[in-house]
Amino acid sequence: TLSDRLSGVFDKLRGRGSLSEADVSEAMREVRVALLEADVALPVAREFIGKVKERAIGQDVLRSVTPGQQVIKIVHDALVDMLGGAEADHALDLNVAPPAAILMVGLQGSGKTTSTAKIALRLQKKEKKKVLMASLDTRRPAAQEQLKVLGEQAEVKTLPIIAGQQPVDIAKRAMEAARLGGYDVVMLDTAGRLSIDEQLMAEVADVHRIANPAETLLVVDSLTGQDAVQTAEKFKARVPVSGVVMTRIDGDGRGGAALSMRAVTGAPIKLIGIGEKLDALDEFDPRRMAGRILGMGDIVSLVEKASEEVDQEKAEKMAKKLSKGQFDLDDLADQLKQMRRMGGMGAIMGMMPGMGKMKKQLDAAGGFEGKEISRQEAIISSMTKKERKNPKVLNASRKKRIAAGSGTSVQEVNRLLKAYQGMSTMMKKMGKKGGMKGLAGMMG
Ligand code: GDP
Ligand code: MG
Repeated sequence: TLSDRLSGVFDKLRGRGSLSEADVSEAMREVRVALLEADVALPVAREFIGKVKERAIGQDVLRSVTPGQQVIKIVHDALVDMLGGAEADHALDLNVAPPAAILMVGLQGSGKTTSTAKIALRLQKKEKKKVLMASLDTRRPAAQEQLKVLGEQAEVKTLPIIAGQQPVDIAKRAMEAARLGGYDVVMLDTAGRLSIDEQLMAEVADVHRIANPAETLLVVDSLTGQDAVQTAEKFKARVPVSGVVMTRIDGDGRGGAALSMRAVTGAPIKLIGIGEKLDALDEFDPRRMAGRILGMGDIVSLVEKASEEVDQEKAEKMAKKLSKGQFDLDDLADQLKQMRRMGGMGAIMGMMPGMGKMKKQLDAAGGFEGKEISRQEAIISSMTKKERKNPKVLNASRKKRIAAGSGTSVQEVNRLLKAYQGMSTMMKKMGKKGGMKGLAGMMG
């Protein structure tokens, strides 16, 4: 996947003292391949790489993060830009005299009907809008019935079905019913098309004219990759698409469609479908999406946190100790304190590229999450200085004493020691791989 590829590229950059232009160029070649494999359109990938290179070369390296991490942040920021920008407003704009119509268009099976119900439910529940849904899908026999059933599930009103009525007339009736009934929003769900088909396009254009929608949302299946982007271009040529709903973001898509969508079509992604259930709808957040694409959690906040919280001098001292294999339980206690400040080991691990495996190992060994940490600190502080410096002396009777002193159990003491062992081994390995500075820079 894109995120695997990228994290491979970034692993190579981690732990370097400084980045040369050649380092950046090499990494960017791989990022480019990763983007193309993720189905990002070629011109978009090219422009993206250009932007990242320009920003990466010649930027001052932050004191407390590695240059590699900084490149990741630059890539992240460029992704955010490509997805529409951190500041951009992706909310639905329903600021018209009610009833505001939302016209849903898209290919068959893209998720129009499901998304119609999801959006209606959200507007009704969260924004306290009075919502009416109407199905204009007269092509598929059970389509109107499908929306009615979803309406019953979501407890959102649907326009009564009148057999034989044409889409344009249903649209008129829906708008009229909404006006009379004092509705705020009318959701118009249209017939799908298997591919762009002139007759259906004309129908959508007619409905658009009649309903004069506040939003015309194109629903695309993110799993269809570049096809989704081409579909968007074609729809945009016929109706003024005001926003895109990308569905099946929960699926195993390659992510490229979301990246190209804004760049190629100019249409902002407004909402994403993340499952089949009616509440599986999210506002589109370029920052979160970029994080998802990078598959490495929020590296940006890591870089930010690291530069805020970590004392560089102390980190370097720790790095030296670690690389010599001098990692004792006092150091672990130090690390635990640091972790607690930064939101738990899990949070940190989640932010570090390629650290998923390491986190699993630690979880298996007892876990280093939030409230666990204070118990672990209690265990360590119940040890004597000698025990902390040399945990090997910890025999059964000492462990029993420590458990009693810290209000824990011998099992917990054992779990902590096992985690310490795992960590110590891992640190040595990281030291050999040259990743030490990065790790210590983040943790201590
Ligand atoms: P339409 O033909 O465009 O109206 O598509 P539908 O709304 O009928 O959806 C087709 C199928 O896709 C249904 O089985 C939905 O449950 C499913 N679906 C829609 N959106 C999502 C989504 O975001 N995630 C997943 N996993 N399934 C979705
Ligand atoms: Mg449908």
